[in-house]
Amino acid sequence: MDGSSHETHYAPPPSTQKHAEKFKGKITAVDGGYLGGRKAGKGWQLITMVTERGTPVAWSLTDLNKGEKPVGAAVVESYAEHVLPKRNQQTLTVCSCDGGFQSPRVHRAMIDARIVPNIHKGSHADSTTSKNSNKKKERNWTAFYNPNEPHYSNWAINGLEEITCNCGDGRTERYFEISPTGKLTIGTKGSCKNCGAISIMVGKWRRAQNPKRASYMTAQDQARYTAAPTIGNPLHFHDPVAHEYGLDRFGWNESFHAVLQKRFDLLGKSWMRSAQEARTEFAVAFSAISILLLERHKRETNNDFKLLTPSPSRGVRVIASTKNRSLGGTMKPHGTRPAAKTLASSTRGWTRLTGKLHPR
Ligand SMILES: [Zn+2]
Repeated sequence: MDGSSHETHYAPPPSTQKHAEKFKGKITAVDGGYLGGRKAGKGWQLITMVTERGTPVAWSLTDLNKGEKPVGAAVVESYAEHVLPKRNQQTLTVCSCDGGFQSPRVHRAMIDARIVPNIHKGSHADSTTSKNSNKKKERNWTAFYNPNEPHYSNWAINGLEEITCNCGDGRTERYFEISPTGKLTIGTKGSCKNCGAISIMVGKWRRAQNPKRASYMTAQDQARYTAAPTIGNPLHFHDPVAHEYGLDRFGWNESFHAVLQKRFDLLGKSWMRSAQEARTEFAVAFSAISILLLERHKRETNNDFKLLTPSPSRGVRVIASTKNRSLGGTMKPHGTRPAAKTLASSTRGWTRLTGKLHPR
C-alpha cells in the first residue's frame, strides 16, 4: 500500500483560520486540501493497495488534509469488505507499507482482513537522522512480563519490535495461523535452553510504564487497555523475510505509481476541480491496468483468468500476494546485529517453510 498526491492548479478552501485570513481570490476546487511541510502541495491524495503484480485492489482518493493513516485504514477496510470475501478463507496476505502508515488502526484493520502488516517503526532511508533514530530504538529494550510465567522477563523487545532473550543463545520462530473460520493469528515463539520458551501472540500484549515492561493483557487489562498490535509481529525492521516483502513494494508498487504518472499522466499537477473528477480518471486508469494485466497473464500462460472463480488455485491468485518463503530466524544478543542471517526451520503454524532466503 502506498500513497501519492494528485495536485491541482485550482484553489482548495483554506485549511486553517490563519490560512483563511491570508487567503485571496476564489475557491475553485471545493473539496481539495492542502499539505504543508516537505511534500507541500494542494489537491488530493491517492492511497492504493496493489498486488505484487501491479493490480490495484483497493484505493481511496481524499483531500490532502486527511492523513495517510486513517485513509490507509479505510482502504484496508474497503479491501476487507469487497475483496476478502472473494478469496479463499485459508489464504494469507502480506502488505508492505512505508512508515507513514504506522498506526495501530492500520495494523488492526489489516489483521482483521487476514493481512500480515509489514510496516516498520524505523525508517529504511539512508540518512544519518534515520540511522541514528533506528540505533536508539534498537537499543531501547523492554522486558516481557507475564504474571503467570515469571521466566518471560528473560526475554525483551526493542523499539524496532525485535524479540530476543537475555543470553542471546535463544531462537525465535515466526508464527502464522488461520483458524477454520479464517481468523488470522500472528506471533513470535522463542526458545532458549537458559531463558526458557515464550509465545508472544499479537493482540495479547501492551507496553506499560512504571515499571516499563511489555505486559501480558490479563482479563482485567483487556477491559482497561488496548493491546499494541505490533508486539509479536515477526515481520519487524531487521527481519530478512520482511525485507524481502519490502523489496516487492519497490519492485511493483513504485512502478505502479510510475505507470500512473508516465502512461496516464495522473500524478502531476492537473486542471481538475473536484475529487469526483480525479476519482473518475483514476478509476479509468485502474480498469485499464487491471484488464491489461489479465491480458498479459493470458498471453504469458495461455490461460484465461477468471477473477471471481471460487477455486482458489486459479481465480484468486490475481489478488494474492502470499509467497512461500523461508520462515524462522536466528536470535541475537541485545543491541548487536547478527553477522550473518542464517535461517532456522519452523515447524509450527499452518505452514512450514524452510530453507535459505533467496538473495536479490
Ligand atoms: Zn537465552
